[in-house]
Amino acid sequence: METTIKIIPSSGTPATKLAEAEVHFDGGLLSGLKLTGFAVWERRGGAGRNVTFPAKQYAVNGERRAFALLRPIEHATAQNTIRDAILAAYEAQEEGDCAPTCASRVPFGECTCGRVDRQLAKETA
Ligand SMILES: [Zn+2]
Repeated sequence: METTIKIIPSSGTPATKLAEAEVHFDGGLLSGLKLTGFAVWERRGGAGRNVTFPAKQYAVNGERRAFALLRPIEHATAQNTIRDAILAAYEAQEEGDCAPTCASRVPFGECTCGRVDRQLAKETA
């Protein structure tokens, strides 16, 4: 089973929400489906980023709560693999799709410099 991560940059509200993320499945029981509801956040005070997982929102006596739908079977550390992969995918797209030396590259955007193979340009820069 192959899984890929899709990053959807945030529109800017709330300001600390940087992006939403989806996990797409190719092969296996979940083939052709995507798991939505992940989000990348800027930590308060700008000390790094964290990832929130798909959750069901509910209210108890007017108090909002969330129940995580993707949960560790046994060890809490099981969440680290997908969390780190989402952060890495976000960072890769944040840099844009061109070489670091390119002056016209834009975050999350397609570069307008006209390089034929931007990914190759990025890798060899
Ligand atoms: Zn470029």
